[in-house]
Amino acid sequence: MQTLAFWILFLTGVGAFAAQVAQRVRIIAAAPNTFSTADLPFRVRRFLVDVVLQARTIRERPAAGLMHAFVFWGFVAFAGYTSVEFLRGLGVVDLTHTSGFEGYRLALVPFASAVLLGIVYLLIRRAFVRPIALGTKVSLESVVIALFIATLMITFLLAFRLEEGTTAERVNWWTHMLVILAFMALIPASKHFHLVLSPITVFLKSPELGNLPNLDFEKEQVGLETVKDLGSKMRLDAFTCVECGRCQVNCPAWGAGKELNPKAIILQTQDALLAEKNDTKLGEVYSEKVLWQCTTCGACENQCPVGIEHLPILIGSRRGLVSNGEAPEYLGAMYLNLERRSNIWGLGYDQRTKFVQSAQLEIFDPAKHDVLVWLGCAGSFDADFQKSLRSLFSILRTKQVTFGVLAKERCNGDPAKRTGNEYMFQELANGNIEDLKTAGVKKIVTSCPHCVKTIGADYAKFGYQVEIVHSSVFVEELLRNAGGAGGSASLSGGSASLSGERQAGERDTVTFHDPCYLGRYAGKTDEPRALLTRFGAEIREPVRNRDNPYCCGAGGGLLFADKEEEPGSRISDVRFKQLQDTGAATVVTACPFCSIMLKGAQASAGAETQFVDLMTFVDGKLQARA
Ligand code: SF4
Ligand code: SF4
Repeated sequence: MQTLAFWILFLTGVGAFAAQVAQRVRIIAAAPNTFSTADLPFRVRRFLVDVVLQARTIRERPAAGLMHAFVFWGFVAFAGYTSVEFLRGLGVVDLTHTSGFEGYRLALVPFASAVLLGIVYLLIRRAFVRPIALGTKVSLESVVIALFIATLMITFLLAFRLEEGTTAERVNWWTHMLVILAFMALIPASKHFHLVLSPITVFLKSPELGNLPNLDFEKEQVGLETVKDLGSKMRLDAFTCVECGRCQVNCPAWGAGKELNPKAIILQTQDALLAEKNDTKLGEVYSEKVLWQCTTCGACENQCPVGIEHLPILIGSRRGLVSNGEAPEYLGAMYLNLERRSNIWGLGYDQRTKFVQSAQLEIFDPAKHDVLVWLGCAGSFDADFQKSLRSLFSILRTKQVTFGVLAKERCNGDPAKRTGNEYMFQELANGNIEDLKTAGVKKIVTSCPHCVKTIGADYAKFGYQVEIVHSSVFVEELLRNAGGAGGSASLSGGSASLSGERQAGERDTVTFHDPCYLGRYAGKTDEPRALLTRFGAEIREPVRNRDNPYCCGAGGGLLFADKEEEPGSRISDVRFKQLQDTGAATVVTACPFCSIMLKGAQASAGAETQFVDLMTFVDGKLQARA
């Protein structure tokens, strides 16, 4: 009788679980396949570190992360125990009296204690502490699931104290098993489904941050237009979201009060998929306005603990809008500049030629030059950034590095790629690849982090591989290898000082703004700091630094947006305030677009903060010592 009752309950619980899982599997299977297992060794390594060891979760939030890890490890450890108890309840086979099972059961005691501790901690945090990332409302579902998990652990531990065959022992066993079955019925429709899906999602996450595979125009790919265009990885992502809000609190657009919330993007995707709104336009699912507020800083997918990739959805949807002629007006002007003059400002190439001549630059010759210096749009046309490049040239000449430039450069295509104009990106990229190949370039140095990402990672998708490094990385290595020259300099760095008034022995107090495309995308955070400290600077770190910086607001084509029309604050103003709050008199930058945005914010604030480009800082110190 009891076995029959258990069979009925088992089939109900497992049936509910299976039906919900089957719906999600069907939705994922119906999608264009975007799963990839390329670079398997990297994926396996990341799986071991982030899933098995839970390293990312613990690193980001040590206390809550460790408690979460306790629950996860317990979930895995109890899988065998639960299976054996199911077999027993169904009357298939009773293995509970074998010595192996007894030993396993005893080994589970510390796991059960840790899970209990973890779930109580997480429940208190969610119900009473309520960090902003988790939302203002306490979710009933989370409370119920937490109570279920606590009940499972309590009944498991209690079983050791109850004599087998007694009523108390039977009630305890039935409570344990019924809670598991209820848990199974609930979990697929809840955020706790990530317990099942996140190991898969983390494994399938691209090794490249902000991975945007090329569109294949021969296959008439135009980007994401409607819900049915969402790829299989995007759909898996949507069902995996644990609603932790890390993407939200790290998003500079959300932080500056705009409507864009990357967590909402993922949850809206989930809702649209489950409602099977296949023909609904993505501009309606997310709102078009929101799609254009993303700077592509990458903080969301870099912070997500379960391997969700936001940028393929955001940029994929932009591609769909651009292919239908629905890009915002300010982008139309930029696209015209790219089309007519191959640079974002639409300036004549005679201006670049004048700069090349006045800076006495040679045209690259592989037989003569060590490296090619890629100027980029800013280096070719922005007078302010050209000062930084002159400093770079001066450092290279001082250290006897031979270099040349291309006779002509097009924009690398980053603003086109990240705003969804894939056709224009491919035109620019293919032209540049052709010229770089013809010139025989093997190594590129550039002061633009966006060029590093685009030429290094996006051009590789056309099969073109070239080594490209940011000037901070190249120069730091140069000085490190040069030993004494520019080595562990005196604290004052000679007579040159940022203000020109500093006394010998007094240290420059600076703050360094990590550009998103250098600190987060390229992971280069030590080299700029090493250059600053090499010349005696004292670095005051701003909030959000190193590989999780707060964006300047320029990326993703937003350099061209009309900031006055945006809701909330300007992202650049928020970042400038964070830099100001360090109390450092000088902000050091290492990206032309960060420099433009932050100087604009400084002007609006009427602040006296001094800006120095990293290369200018280094060259000033080297020249002062010469
Ligand atoms: S890439 Fe940056 S700006 Fe865009 S949604 Fe993610 S965190 Fe926000
Ligand atoms: S997308 Fe990732 S980071 Fe954002 S709420 Fe979901 S699980 Fe958390």
